[in-house]
Amino acid sequence: MEEKIPANIMHDEIGTKKPCSSCKWQIADPTNPLRGQCTVNRNAMGGVWKRWIGNVSDMTCGKHEEGKLSFREHV
Ligand code: SF4
Repeated sequence: MEEKIPANIMHDEIGTKKPCSSCKWQIADPTNPLRGQCTVNRNAMGGVWKRWIGNVSDMTCGKHEEGKLSFREHV
């Protein structure tokens, strides 16, 4: 049986056209360019719930948005 991954959950997708690395919700890890953090998730109070990204060029999710986040949106 084929395993279905919910599109909005971060998942591996080798060669994806929408990698976390080009997504505006991604913050690069200054010490390891392969890693990053996803900031797309917010809890009910509006706080950012960060998730580690293991490999920013081969992971994606359905919430991918091209671009850079402004400083204000990071807060
Ligand atoms: S929103 Fe999706 S594509 Fe963007 S950084 Fe987070 S997991 Fe990656």
